[in-house]
Amino acid sequence: MLLPLPLAGAYDYRLGPGIEAGEGDFLRVPLGRRSAIGVLWGPATDDVDPAKLKDVTERLDVLPLPDVSRRFVDWVAGYTLAAPGAVLKMAMSVPDALQPPVAPPPAYVAKKKLPDDLRLTAPRQRVIEAAWAPLPATELARVAGVGVSVIKGLAQAGALEMVARPAATTSPGEPDWRRPGPDFSEDQAKIGAELRTMVSTGFAVALLEGVTGSGKTEVYFEAVAEALAQGKQALVLLPEIALSAQWLDRFAQRFGVAPVAWHSDLTQARRRDVWRDVAAGRARVVVGARSALFLPFPDLGLIVVDEEHDASYKQEEGVAYHARDMAVVRARLGGFPAVLASATPSLETLANAQAGRYRLLHLPARHGGAPLPDVGLIDLRRTPPARRSWLAPPLVEAVQKALDAGEQALLFLNRRGYAPLTLCRTCGHRLQCPNCTAWLVEHRQQGRLQCHHCGLVSVLPKACPSCGSEEQMVPCGPGVERVAEEAAQRFPEARLAVMASDTLTGPDAAARLVAQMARHEIDLLVGTQVVAKGHHFPMLTLVGVVDADLGLGGGDLRAGERTFQLLTQVAGRAGRAAHPGRVMLQTFQPEHPVMGALASGDAQRFYTTEANERRSAGMPPFGRLAALIVSGPDAAQVDGAAAQLARRAPKGEGIDVLGPAPAPLHFLRGRHRRRLLLKTERRINLQDLLRPWLASVKTLGAVRIQVDVDPYSFF
Ligand code: ADP
Ligand code: ZN
Ligand code: ZN
Repeated sequence: MLLPLPLAGAYDYRLGPGIEAGEGDFLRVPLGRRSAIGVLWGPATDDVDPAKLKDVTERLDVLPLPDVSRRFVDWVAGYTLAAPGAVLKMAMSVPDALQPPVAPPPAYVAKKKLPDDLRLTAPRQRVIEAAWAPLPATELARVAGVGVSVIKGLAQAGALEMVARPAATTSPGEPDWRRPGPDFSEDQAKIGAELRTMVSTGFAVALLEGVTGSGKTEVYFEAVAEALAQGKQALVLLPEIALSAQWLDRFAQRFGVAPVAWHSDLTQARRRDVWRDVAAGRARVVVGARSALFLPFPDLGLIVVDEEHDASYKQEEGVAYHARDMAVVRARLGGFPAVLASATPSLETLANAQAGRYRLLHLPARHGGAPLPDVGLIDLRRTPPARRSWLAPPLVEAVQKALDAGEQALLFLNRRGYAPLTLCRTCGHRLQCPNCTAWLVEHRQQGRLQCHHCGLVSVLPKACPSCGSEEQMVPCGPGVERVAEEAAQRFPEARLAVMASDTLTGPDAAARLVAQMARHEIDLLVGTQVVAKGHHFPMLTLVGVVDADLGLGGGDLRAGERTFQLLTQVAGRAGRAAHPGRVMLQTFQPEHPVMGALASGDAQRFYTTEANERRSAGMPPFGRLAALIVSGPDAAQVDGAAAQLARRAPKGEGIDVLGPAPAPLHFLRGRHRRRLLLKTERRINLQDLLRPWLASVKTLGAVRIQVDVDPYSFF
């Protein structure tokens, strides 16, 4: 029995009399003084004295967890070194879905022929009139404006008939794979056919690569159609599903119905329905965030990972897994293909394609031949913006020109809020989060300061907390809100909107804003990375990147790669239709390889340089990494544990341990943090080193050691 709890492994139980169960069945068992629901994982270990075994209390009347899901849970646990129960918890994320569906209350309908002796008062008359169609008692009482007792009375008098209603099973709608797709270009058709063949063949991985607008989505819809034609389910992972209204429309156009969506903004009731629909095979195509991988698909036949390079596929909290990599594992276990799509693939995926492990499918051109935008650099050392402003003269001019021509412009800055730092003009004191090594970010629209690491919220103090001077706190540097303020001053005629994850109230607000932009009801959009995600804005011709260097700082392994990917994606928003696009990057480092690659459009050269550097440093994808983060409220205890880890570190040819060092964010959410990094050659099994190493260390107090295999964040 595996329980969805962070325990070391499975527990043995005895099947009580009269309970029959097989592997995968959901069982209720006693656990301490409580009871818990777990999954029958396999035969008992026989390590436990039979006299001490506890009885299973109940087998739940739901479909068992598919065999492949159980193997997947085990695999993910083995790879990430998470407790199997912690991974199972992700596969049992909707406990409600395991409860028997509750039948709705019975409904009442007026009899055709009312009893002759019926006493008809005015309220009773109203009920009879309202009950021409079946309604539940409370609803009927509300409509007729009477108490429920009137309904009961009428039912007893034989004037209303009770209609039992079965538990509702939502039918998510059957996507119609027979509907024709668009008329493909020769390249698109070839790749579409190849994907269809892959779906009928078995496990394989394809990298579907092509510039934004080349038709990757339309082409992988072919694979989805093929999976459906074979009676299989399909899963499409998207990084920002809540912001993907346009994608959902495209799917509906292709297949006639909306796909089943899975993401964190769903209500609990909706999550329950989706979980059941997936388990029962009623949900044919699911589009979801990374956690959709753990839904109990009985008959999955395809996974597409769109924007496969996107950092949001990496989960850092709890079980640290990368959804793109685990999608490939899930495909292998299920014996079906995985398709990884991107205009700017990750180095990991490219290396796999170059080594022949993944098939490379390349779409060479934008559909309809729209040229890629022209990318230019603005050297901020030579043409700086005016004092206390952020837009350099050439960018201001270009925006004005686009607006004058009746076109749209986008100003991009990947930083939420008004200003990233507030300091005192008198004494230089900086407003810092008390729980983290981080500055407080001013969000002027909401009138507050916020820590972007722990979420702490406070108000902007009038007086300096350090020296007490009044009216001396000044914002330093720009966030999107501040750029929007400048834009509003410079372009007063333009209809302006700000788009950042915190200025949007939810997925509907995001969809509305995207639709307004697409209909050209907005002239100038100022936004963070949420604007970069796959939207298609036909009249957008100018993209200005306010601070192209922003992502390059810090010691992050993937800083260059990520900046290249993000800015390429932002640039791809410009000139997607009939009007040619232009992109301007404001930078202090025009000679940086990332800027050079963006300006010249020579992605290949960038990838080659980057890959060579990683190879010579033995870094992923050419070597393996695992991060250990030691944290706790007491700095001495944390240091003690980190030192112990260092002393017991694995040694050997091709094995390096770096650290312990204070993490860049060495104080986070009230915990001190130290980092160690295990770096090995690719041939070495990292997990086999980590397991005994971690087991050799005893931690004190509230000290925790988090393991992150293939880390993506280094703070
Ligand atoms: P990508 O996913 O590579 O960014 P999309 O699949 O989103 O590209 O295609 C970009 C746009 O071009 C979409 O509006 C899509 O409907 C359209 N498109 C792509 N291929 C075709 C085609 N063969 N015929 C008609 N429209 C197409
Ligand atoms: Zn001060
Ligand atoms: Zn904080």
